[in-house]
Amino acid sequence: MCDNNRIGKTIGRGLDQYGISVNDRFPVQVQIIPPSRVRREECPFTGEHLSHGEMYPRGLTPRHTKESVYQAFINPADDTRCGICNCELDHQTINMFRHNRREVAYRFCPDCRDYFALMAAVVHGDPVATKVMRSEQTAISYQPVNQITYEPQETVDDIINMAPRPLPVRRLS
Ligand SMILES: [Zn+2]
Repeated sequence: MCDNNRIGKTIGRGLDQYGISVNDRFPVQVQIIPPSRVRREECPFTGEHLSHGEMYPRGLTPRHTKESVYQAFINPADDTRCGICNCELDHQTINMFRHNRREVAYRFCPDCRDYFALMAAVVHGDPVATKVMRSEQTAISYQPVNQITYEPQETVDDIINMAPRPLPVRRLS
């Protein structure tokens, strides 16, 4: 099985080297699993603490999710869609999964696969991946509060009057 922790370390180093924030690299994924929820020794999907035994199952590659989450990924209702963002998977990925139903990486689109691996490195305590995952705070360009204005254009009465009226009921002849 592929070692997400090792792949995630490599992804983290690449992003750090080029100064790319996690928001810029994974705009879809950070909306689904916010970086603030990705923490050392915690399942990013349930927020629960992961024991050493859960993270390093004997004879298997390291994990960074609860067993129930892993099982849900590898037993999908629909294996043609990404387990994280729900986009359509390419045929090659679908076929790879159908030939190896324990490989969770085949349940994700390429970007979700990379984000999943980066999460693995953070959960396993890699400092560079953690730094990258925390980079989101500086990357978001907030609109200054004093530029946000709220000018109600319509009164509640206007809105009610704009609502479509029910069609007149025609009698069946
Ligand atoms: Zn995806």
